[in-house]
Order: sequence, then C-alpha cells, then structure tokens
Amino acid sequence: MWVVMDRVSGKVAFISGGARGMGAAHAHWLLAEGASVVVGDVLDVEGRALAAKLGERVLFTHLDVTSPADWAAAVDQTIERFGRIDILVNNAGIANGAPISEFSVDVWQRTLDINLTGAFLGIRTVVPHLIAQRSGSIINVSSVEGLRGSPNLHAYVATKFGLRGLTKSVAVEVAAAGVRVNSIHPGFITTPMTSGISAERLQIPMGRAAEPDEVSQLVLFLASDESSYSTGAEFVIDGGLTAGIPHA
Ligand code: NAD
Repeated sequence: MWVVMDRVSGKVAFISGGARGMGAAHAHWLLAEGASVVVGDVLDVEGRALAAKLGERVLFTHLDVTSPADWAAAVDQTIERFGRIDILVNNAGIANGAPISEFSVDVWQRTLDINLTGAFLGIRTVVPHLIAQRSGSIINVSSVEGLRGSPNLHAYVATKFGLRGLTKSVAVEVAAAGVRVNSIHPGFITTPMTSGISAERLQIPMGRAAEPDEVSQLVLFLASDESSYSTGAEFVIDGGLTAGIPHA
C-alpha cells in the first residue's frame, strides 16, 4: 500500500509506550524508512520481543514515563547506542472511564501522570539535545478527545487537551532553535486500548476504524524533513469523526 522511500534515513527516533499498539507500528515504519529506533515502555517482555523481531537498529529500554530518572537513563542509552536523537514520539498513554461524580482521584492523577506529565518529562529530557544540534521533531500523541468532550473519559480528555497546550508552548519556545513540536489527533484506531469497543458506536463518516499503520504514515511525515515548516500544529487523522455533527 505504501512505498518505502528512506524518509527518515540516518535519524534516531525514541518512542514512548512503543512495545505494542500504535507505538509498535511507528517503530516498524520509522525503521523501514531508515531510522534507528529506541522503544521505551513498562511492558518489558513485549518490548524486548519487538526489538528482537525488528533487529539491530531497534533497542528496547525499560521506561516508566512518570519517572524523571527513567527518562534520563533512556535518553543516555539512546545517545550511547546510536550517537544522537532526532525524533521523540510521546505515545505512552492510558484511558479510563467513569461518570464524573464517581471518578476516583487516584485514576484522575494516574492518568495525568502518564499521559501529560510523562510527555512533559520526555520533552524536558530530550529538548536540550535537539537544541544543541539545532534540529529535531517532537510528536505528541493527543487524540480526537483532545478536541472535544467525551462522557466518562474526563481525565483522558483533560490530558489530551493538555498535550495540545504543551505542544504549542514548547513549539514557540524552541522554533528559532530549529526544533519542531506538533500534536497528532487520531480517531478510532484498532489497538489493545480499543479492543472490545465497536467502531459502529462512533458514527465515523468513513465507516471504519483505522489500522495503526495508517497513523504511522502521519508520524513519518512529521518525523521527516517533509514537514519542515510545520510546528505548533494539530494534525487530525480520524476518518472524518470530528468534521461533522453526529446525527442519530
Ligand atoms: P496501547 O494501550 O496499545 O499502547 C499504549 C502503550 O503505552 C502500551 O504499550 C503501554 O504499556 C504504554 N504505557 C502505559 N503506561 C506507561 C508508562 N507509565 N510508561 C511507559 N509506557 C506506558 O494503546 P494505543 O491505542 O496504541 O495508544 C497509543 C497512544 O495513542 C496513547 O497515547 C493513546 O491515548 C493514543 N490514542 C489512541 C487511540 C485509539 O483509538 N487507539 C486514539 C487516539 C489516541
């Protein structure tokens, strides 16, 4: 379906939460298009199996995105192994649902810690390297739930809106240093996170869920120099989900 064209040849990419789901697809595609890839995740078994499958230009490292020490060690390892870092995909995330009056403070806080603070810590750790080399691309994985409200998904929605703001504040700060920061807003993608949810519930104009590989094509665009003039921007990939008003 897609032609491989060395779109990120020679670059080094770091993907948080890349052991499975969309992150694993991004690892596959960034590698296929010429990058070396480091995958960080709490899922050690899945992460190591993925790296073993993809080969020598893929490294797995244990990373809990809520830990500043884990981030520091993961980025040190990346530089040690591949000599540089060019691309950060802040992809790790969790989703939990409950009516607002029953939403637990623990779940709220855990979701903020992983989805939003995790991305902040990743950016804070990686950005000095990108500024020093005067190039780099950061891709923050928000969601269509960062563009609109969604019943029960209160913490998730708050973090995905938060990622939009963080994207823009960092983007304007580092633009002059040649570093780009953008957010992506996937709709309904077939991954472990959405298993058990039927695409039919969502009234997607295109009438189907997307495969993770389809989102990887957007990540490749933003990771590569093809997107050289895009920063602080929001890239929606949702089969038309947020384009119209749903009618029952
Ligand atoms: P997934 O559950 O398959 O992947 C999420 C990954 O994040 C897992 O590998 C998980 O282990 C990892 N993770 C969770 N907590 C972590 C932590 N503390 N430290 C490091 N890694 C951690 O789900 P996915 O659908 O592939 O989700 C990837 C991203 O895409 C998430 O940010 C999600 O919110 C976002 N997203 C998903 C959809 C969808 O429809 N699937 C739509 C829009 C946005």
